[in-house]
Amino acid sequence: MRIELQHFSKRFGDTVVVSDMNLVVEEGEMIALLGPSGCGKTTTLFAISGVHRVDEGRITIGGRDVTRLPAQKRNVGVVFQSYALYPHMTARRNIGFPLAIRGMERRAADRAIDEMAELLEIRPLLERRPGELSGGQQQRVALARALVRRPDVLLLDEPLANLDARLRLDMRGEIRRIQRETHTTAILVTHDQVEAMSMCDRIAIMDRGRVVQIAAPAEMYERPASRFVASFLGSPPIAYLPAAATEGGLRVGDALVPWAGTAPRDTPLSIGVRPEDFGPDGPIRLAGTVAAVESHGREMLYAVDLALGARLRAIQPGIARARIGEAVAWGFDPARMLVFDGEGRRL
Ligand code: ATP
Repeated sequence: MRIELQHFSKRFGDTVVVSDMNLVVEEGEMIALLGPSGCGKTTTLFAISGVHRVDEGRITIGGRDVTRLPAQKRNVGVVFQSYALYPHMTARRNIGFPLAIRGMERRAADRAIDEMAELLEIRPLLERRPGELSGGQQQRVALARALVRRPDVLLLDEPLANLDARLRLDMRGEIRRIQRETHTTAILVTHDQVEAMSMCDRIAIMDRGRVVQIAAPAEMYERPASRFVASFLGSPPIAYLPAAATEGGLRVGDALVPWAGTAPRDTPLSIGVRPEDFGPDGPIRLAGTVAAVESHGREMLYAVDLALGARLRAIQPGIARARIGEAVAWGFDPARMLVFDGEGRRL
């Protein structure tokens, strides 16, 4: 069901943690709340699930105002980083717990549990206790428990944080598959940009209790609203060079860079260059010294300390194109650069 937050604010004592937040998650959509530690992601999720009281604003789920509704009346499924399974109960009883609370008859509950276990591919594990399950299996049990009563919305708070890198990769795809198959509206809280980009239809980036941009992952990567957003997506991250508007373009170090935008002459600007857009063959050349060369298997990662006093990283496929300490004049493509004003807003 569609989730809508209207002018939502939350304080703890005198500290405003979320301020005037507006967010719409369309029915069947999965959205990521992404942002630095402490920006208010979990607080927002807790307000939607009913754990936190809302100070100001309104929350609706499927058009129904749930702002003052107790958590148990909201039909919201939640999965946490710590799976919060009951250690003395089998997986079957853990999954069935929300149904037992509702007084669902045993046979119907078993059918619902089996169906969910089928979807999550954990049928053979149902009689085991959490201690007899791997992290990834416990995670699936937690998901099954959140989904078994067909929640109107699914809230996921760093659900993959406790898994090792490979399992995390598998589970990303799994959670997305199940969310799609059950057509459940979902919100994922994460500070892992790869997770947000690979799993979600849209990303909402938060900064100090405010949403600063909402967009589809590719759109946000290509057209971030600000340096803050640009820095959040991409690994290794985008790097910035000082620039100034001048006749016919931008001055970046000794280079004149063509630019169609406008800014008052000589105002301090910056350009952002992503590592995939910098390398031996780029058209706008900048002199520097190679400071690091790393092999990442399929590709090489370089750091180049530029004479103009900044460091750019480069990702290039294939074998090493330079050695540490080598003087190079590598370049970037001005069509790919991002230009920001003095306040960090993209121009
Ligand atoms: P993280 O990525 O670290 O989980 P987050 O974006 O989820 O961060 P929140 O957990 O929403 O951040 O916390 C936002 C701010 O609110 C933090 O500064 C936190 O210390 C504060 N906060 C959270 N819960 C409470 C509480 N119950 N009482 C007082 N302050 C709180």
